[in-house]
Amino acid sequence: GSAEILQQLRDKLSPQGNVVSPRGRALTEEVFGKPLTPAEVVQTICDDVRRNGTPALLRYSTSLDKANLTADQLRVPADDLAAAHEAADPKLIETIGRIRDNITTFQSAILHTDVTITPKPGVKLTQRYVPLRRVGVCVPGGAAAYPSTVLMTAVPAQVAGVKEIAVVAPPTPFGSYNVDMLATCHELGITEVYRCGGAQAVAAMAYGCDVIPAVDKIVGPGNLFVALAKKHVFGTVDIDSFAGPSEVIVIADDTARADYIAADLLAQAEHSPGSAILITWHEPLIEAVAAELEKQVALLQRSELTVDSLEAFGALILVRDEAHACALTDQFAPEHLNIETSAPDQMMAKIKNAGAAFLGHHTPVAIGDYAAGPSHVLPTGGTCTWAAGLSSNSFLRSGSITEFTPAALNQIAPDVVRLAEKEGLTAHARSVTIRE
Ligand code: NAD
Repeated sequence: GSAEILQQLRDKLSPQGNVVSPRGRALTEEVFGKPLTPAEVVQTICDDVRRNGTPALLRYSTSLDKANLTADQLRVPADDLAAAHEAADPKLIETIGRIRDNITTFQSAILHTDVTITPKPGVKLTQRYVPLRRVGVCVPGGAAAYPSTVLMTAVPAQVAGVKEIAVVAPPTPFGSYNVDMLATCHELGITEVYRCGGAQAVAAMAYGCDVIPAVDKIVGPGNLFVALAKKHVFGTVDIDSFAGPSEVIVIADDTARADYIAADLLAQAEHSPGSAILITWHEPLIEAVAAELEKQVALLQRSELTVDSLEAFGALILVRDEAHACALTDQFAPEHLNIETSAPDQMMAKIKNAGAAFLGHHTPVAIGDYAAGPSHVLPTGGTCTWAAGLSSNSFLRSGSITEFTPAALNQIAPDVVRLAEKEGLTAHARSVTIRE
């Protein structure tokens, strides 16, 4: 039955699994005068901002975020960014700097560079990579502040060579009034920060308005309204992904420690909703981890949320053996995979589907969430079977460059002409034969 359990969890964890709270539903009714689905809300907001620009953006900031801002208050002044940096804990600034260096080292190493080949004499073929000109970064600010999101999105963009980065964060104490978030932006050299969030900020960045020039790509996490808005504007701009609730599978054997595993599952469940699943073939671990969960949850700040999340989306699964564990993991295709076994790299070689994997007893997912180097913006909901996490390469576009000499053209001409004539495109054929 383990496959069924996983399927049930997967069904609950679609991006729409990011359900709207009763308070959120009440807000929708208050603002729109009737109960709308989140998709209808997002469609209404995006269309309004596209048609009416900054005044519409400000209206939604007032009604949804209770922030009465004028157009010239939308952009965070340079002095405020500098003041936040000044006021922030110096130790935090040092940490931000060190993490920026870790991210830069990894993201630089994996960055695509131009490839040129000469497959035949007189033929030169190039794949060229050019950074995007301007990108928008969504930093959430509804329930918590996320300096880490700024790092994990903006630094890969900077490594790729993106010159213009616009950050939007809701006009809330956790968003664009948050000292740590603003200080992080300043430390990273980000000068464009806007006090707006939700679907209205996504629409403003996609379509452009008086205050926020349009961007080429929108990245970064957010709640359901942000995710649906990104999906809505895709095509006008590129987006990183349509992200849903976060999730982890921990695979463990008899060398694993129950207290470590419980801590890892709780770290995931803390996202709320977040799916936290243990898969093991070592039966005593199930009881031991369950006992540790009880013990450790009491120590957490967000313990109620975390328990709710574990009850709805958690599972401790006993499998037959290693091969069974690998097959189930591939089937679930988790965003995060933590392999806490004696030979984690051997197991990893047998698993194809994982957004980001963390190997061994000393590599909790939190290392990757905050500091290691790969971005924590990852494909959720089983989408890692076809999607990749955010990286410096997400901020490049590529184009090809082809150059033939006369002799090389003569050599390839008969094949081009034959295919063009078969397709009835005689002008194509003639553009070749005219040069022979
Ligand atoms: P958010 O900034 O994404 O959303 C807040 C905005 O939502 C508000 O400004 C408002 O405009 C809009 N909104 C709220 N209720 C609405 C309603 N009823 N109708 C229309 N618009 C409404 O902040 P959040 O709510 O805190 O959500 C952040 C999410 O991002 C969380 O689920 C968190 O777990 C996730 N997250 C993920 C990562 C990651 O990298 N995977 C990192 C950080 C946060």
